[in-house]
Amino acid sequence: IPERIPKPKWLRVKLPTGKKYTELRGLVDKYNLNTICTSGSCPNMGECWGEGTATFMILGNICTRSCGFCGVKTGRPETLDWDEPEKVARSIKIMNIKHAVLTSVDRDDLKDMGSIMWAETVKAVRRMNPDITLETLIPDFQGIEHHIDRIVDVAPEVVSHNIETVKRLTREVRIQAKYERSLGVLKYLKTQGQRRTKSGIMLGLGETREEVIETLHDLRANDVDVVTIGQYLQPSKKHLPVKQFILPEQFKEYETIGLDLGFRHVESSALVRSSYKAQKHIH
Ligand code: SF4
Ligand code: SF4
Repeated sequence: IPERIPKPKWLRVKLPTGKKYTELRGLVDKYNLNTICTSGSCPNMGECWGEGTATFMILGNICTRSCGFCGVKTGRPETLDWDEPEKVARSIKIMNIKHAVLTSVDRDDLKDMGSIMWAETVKAVRRMNPDITLETLIPDFQGIEHHIDRIVDVAPEVVSHNIETVKRLTREVRIQAKYERSLGVLKYLKTQGQRRTKSGIMLGLGETREEVIETLHDLRANDVDVVTIGQYLQPSKKHLPVKQFILPEQFKEYETIGLDLGFRHVESSALVRSSYKAQKHIH
């Protein structure tokens, strides 16, 4: 058994602080609200919450897929909760969130793959929070266009779909997904008039520098506007091991390359998660 590589010091988690953070933490506990930020114990809570951004997951919390890097439970999902859109909308209102990121598990078991609930959630959130801006971090909907159309139709400010890793590792890292299909989803969004699209990659799964650069090229070639690049961390021993901790200088280089390629925004550093600094990406 290979020994686990010790975590370098730049990955030590910053303890969230700040008045706004403390206030939100109190509300989340009091009303028992569900955010990805708290369930994943994200290291960026202090910053994101301080800026009025949080991430919410819909379509339940059991996923039909089983990506090797992901901490979400896999299995047979529960039946849909049609009150979910209202619940998410209410949480956003209680927390006084200015920019919300919505994401979901993948629901390959459903005929519409969850796209109707997605649209209903965006509508409910807007109804209850008229000034909100939104990012929808969507699944691939198996590349089926009329499901993707339901997202574009409700006009989120940003639509994101994560490619997660380089082409060679896609099979191993996200078994039910396809690299080309994800690129196709991103491209299709643009052809349907989506103004801002975004994708994300995790590093440290065994990819080479050349492969990362190739992925950045592929995303740009499909008109993606924003990219996030962060360090993969293993959610548990059952998940894929971390092969490498990427140096801060290397993240910096990818940022420079990304900006040269023409991305509007590149967030690239170890603790970046796909919704980090998300409110910036609407511009
Ligand atoms: Fe929440 Fe995403 Fe920010 Fe983490 S990076 S605190 S999950 S909004
Ligand atoms: Fe996790 Fe998404 Fe993969 Fe499901 S599809 S296992 S939620 S990364």
